[in-house]
Amino acid sequence: AETPRTNFIRQIVEADLASGKHDRIVTRFPPEPNGYLHIGHAKSIVLNFGLAEAFGGRCNLRFDDTNPNKENVEFVDSIQADVRWLGFDWGDRLFFASDYFEQLYAFAIELIEQGLAYVCDLSAEETRVYRGTLTEPGRDSPNRDRSMADNLDLFKRMRAGEFPDGARTLRARIDMASPNINLRDPVLYRIKHGVVHHQTGSAWCLYPTYDYTHPLSDALEGITHSLCTLEFEDHRPLYDWCIEHVSVPSKPRQIEFSRLNLEYTVMSKRRLTELVSERLVQGWDDPRMPTLAGLRRRGYTPAAIREFCERVGVTKSDNLVEMALLESAIRDDLDATVPRRMAVLRPLKVVLTNYPQDRQETMEAGNHPKDERMGSRPVPFGRAIYIDRADFAELPPKGFKRLIPGGEVRLRNAYVIRCDEIVKDAAGEVVELRATVDLDTLGKNPEGRKVKGVIHWVSVAHGIPAKVRLYDRLFRVPTPGAGGSDYRADINPDSLRVLADCVVEPALQGVQPGERFQFEREGYFVADPETTPERPVFNLTVGLRDAWGK
Ligand code: ATP
Ligand code: MG
Ligand code: MG
Repeated sequence: AETPRTNFIRQIVEADLASGKHDRIVTRFPPEPNGYLHIGHAKSIVLNFGLAEAFGGRCNLRFDDTNPNKENVEFVDSIQADVRWLGFDWGDRLFFASDYFEQLYAFAIELIEQGLAYVCDLSAEETRVYRGTLTEPGRDSPNRDRSMADNLDLFKRMRAGEFPDGARTLRARIDMASPNINLRDPVLYRIKHGVVHHQTGSAWCLYPTYDYTHPLSDALEGITHSLCTLEFEDHRPLYDWCIEHVSVPSKPRQIEFSRLNLEYTVMSKRRLTELVSERLVQGWDDPRMPTLAGLRRRGYTPAAIREFCERVGVTKSDNLVEMALLESAIRDDLDATVPRRMAVLRPLKVVLTNYPQDRQETMEAGNHPKDERMGSRPVPFGRAIYIDRADFAELPPKGFKRLIPGGEVRLRNAYVIRCDEIVKDAAGEVVELRATVDLDTLGKNPEGRKVKGVIHWVSVAHGIPAKVRLYDRLFRVPTPGAGGSDYRADINPDSLRVLADCVVEPALQGVQPGERFQFEREGYFVADPETTPERPVFNLTVGLRDAWGK
């Protein structure tokens, strides 16, 4: 079950409501539409929407769309779909930072009029050099003392499109000697011609920077608590400076928390974009991707992702979360909720020589061992069945409890069988087994002997063909690209194995994409969108138990 745990941000919110500082909180989730959402974003979504829900407040979905080159409508749409899928609703509070371009421009004029912003003619490279370093103060731009009239004139002409890209910027006039580099006259506006913005088209050739746009958008929306990741801690003085010096209607408070980092994957949008564009995965929704679209296609449920975010918690210290934590969240959810089925992934035919040719028999198998309310389904039996190759060993290793020559095993939901004969092809490979069935063992133990192993099976005459994709972690190492190496070199070459010739029980006929099951003794699987009426395709969501030490 989902239990919201307390954390330092919750405590701040509780205190602000108790003291009357706010009657009602407003949070926001502010994605840049330059990629698909990933599991790290889920942490921010669960936190922001979760707080609003818990305290009767509101949470805005705001696209932080000030960087038109890398943004597009596909991303805008997928982000909305993914937030909804996670189970959150922004109601009528959908905003775009670009909605505020006109207002932000007016705020910039206010700054110029107060002598707090100026038009600077330095190139991007010069601006960087002039900024100085951690140990060295910055140098003033030659344009820092430009007259207000000139600044207003030049800024208007920047907007009007009179200057090429990079020719001029608008900069805040703060402190070139500040120990905080973010306060050394940060750039507020840059010129970008020729890009068509997904919301504002060609209306602007002047775009505000993130550091300027974000605090003012928060203030315009009446955000009370602006939650962001720790790397923005150093930007907070600039955040506060912006809302301090223009006539905004409210004063939000920025609070930083640790970003989610997950083992065996990458999460920066630059790298995720590369994985997709370089065809290292099959798309943003490849089931190996840490994107919400990928996790959905992998079979993850929104509830499991929300629960994972709760278990990770919200703190001030960065850490690397084990993949096992994500996997145990989905395993716990699916164990309780999905029906059991039998699926033979590597079929080996077994003929039951003493079973009557014309006998029609159907077993009734429970859908869940711990939950009778989930009912049962018919499972037809037959003279020929498939078992998994891994459940037979001609030369069994020590402790092998499944089928061996001359040995007995129980077929799940059916009888005990004994292997009498191995049929091999010319190359010496086992292609079939002959066995006898003990018809006295349905629902009871055989007389005078113990049969320990239980294996799953599917009737040859009734089984349906299926394709199964077994996924493993996308990277071989916990922190791909650590120490400056190329993360691509750490890709796991065996992250996808396709088993094209599986056979599954007939209850899976007509399965719909998105339906989830436990294939007994194999793991949890979800039907992929590529499923057809003729042939279902299943993706492995997660194995039955933690196999990370394997
Ligand atoms: P990237 O650095 O990969 O470009 P980003 O943080 O710039 O990612 P945004 O679209 O700006 O991506 O993120 C939207 C919101 O989600 C921000 O408030 C950001 O702090 C939060 N967020 C992004 N990644 C994580 C993460 N790994 N853990 C927690 N919150 C995150
Ligand atoms: Mg970014
Ligand atoms: Mg960002």
